[in-house]
Amino acid sequence: MIIKELVSNLSILITSLFLYTQTTGAPSLRVSSAMKTKVIAGVLAGVLSNILMQYSMDFNDTIIDLRHIPLIIVTYYGGVVPAILSTLLIGIGRLIIGVNISSFLGVVLVAFVAVTTLLTRRLNVNRGIKVFITLTASNIVFTIMVCYLLQSVQVLLFLVPVFWAISYTAGFVAFYLIEYVRESQRVLEQYKSEASTDSLTGLNNVRKFDQLFNEACMQAERKGEKLSLLFIDIDHFKSVNDTYGHKEGDQVLIELGELLKNTVRSFDIVSRNGGEEFTVILLDCPMERGEEISERIREAVQEHPFMLTTGNVINVTVSVGLACYNETTEKPSALLEDADEALYEAKKTGRNKVCASSRFAYSNI
Ligand code: GH3
Ligand code: MG
Ligand code: MG
Repeated sequence: MIIKELVSNLSILITSLFLYTQTTGAPSLRVSSAMKTKVIAGVLAGVLSNILMQYSMDFNDTIIDLRHIPLIIVTYYGGVVPAILSTLLIGIGRLIIGVNISSFLGVVLVAFVAVTTLLTRRLNVNRGIKVFITLTASNIVFTIMVCYLLQSVQVLLFLVPVFWAISYTAGFVAFYLIEYVRESQRVLEQYKSEASTDSLTGLNNVRKFDQLFNEACMQAERKGEKLSLLFIDIDHFKSVNDTYGHKEGDQVLIELGELLKNTVRSFDIVSRNGGEEFTVILLDCPMERGEEISERIREAVQEHPFMLTTGNVINVTVSVGLACYNETTEKPSALLEDADEALYEAKKTGRNKVCASSRFAYSNI
């Protein structure tokens, strides 16, 4: 009989943990998590423990289940706040089921488990050992209590080993599952970030640029806002590579990325679109302001001493092509082509300069 209840406890526990980690998208619980995250975790653990109590084995008013496992988990990961909340909810839930010596001892056991977990989580040993110590301590106290409450050697000889086995299994499986999901989420976040970031400069890569540019275009059309786009290309960058080597060229690209970020407004979108070509999307920005920002960038680059890894300092310049919806460019989607053409014009007419697209202006004449 007891095996049936404990196995159903185990199944509910594992299923709930899986559903929680898969469906909420909640940030991983840590001691440094926001108070709201800790409160939610503490309450959910308390609720889960109460559900487990509903599926417990009842033996002369003594109910046996895995209520301590959710408590151990949230206390281990989240510290004092979820520990107190889930202990309170479990205590209240147990006393609602029945007020007797068994329920009081049950509440004491839960408080003991919370304190033990808070202490063991600080130990300087690996996670498996911490979990083992916590589970063993709660199994021992549980055993002392059921020996006192049940006093039937025949029952105890069966009950105690089964409880120990299932408590260990549930504890280790639950921690394994949580760690597995946490690791998968961490790797997924890392891949997502790598998929949208240029690894050299840390700026948006061209894929992220495309996504953000499309969003900016839709927003500009919907809200009737202006939208400016800058194409920035380093002048004679090939000769930097040829003179100082590719590695030093990379150093220039990194420094230029930082310089661009620091020169534009915090909400402007800076990307490295490839090679030595960068873009800046200026949201809600008219042509005149776009020209000012472009000129500021051009001047900042010209003045900036680029420090190479060898300690040498060099100067580089950039050319900037600018297009603005709806001043130089009729459709936001045509900004790319127009800014590129303006950049070509800047290169052709001397470099180290800003050129604005004149397409729409021409077509309107
Ligand atoms: P222009 O003024 O006409 O733009 O001349 P440029 O030399 O800058 O232009 P060009 O297109 O001839 O050469 C671009 C150079 O950029 C060639 C290539 O070696 C270099 N480059 C592209 N990507 C990288 C990179 O990731 N790292 C380094 N170090 N160099 C790169
Ligand atoms: Mg180029
Ligand atoms: Mg170039």
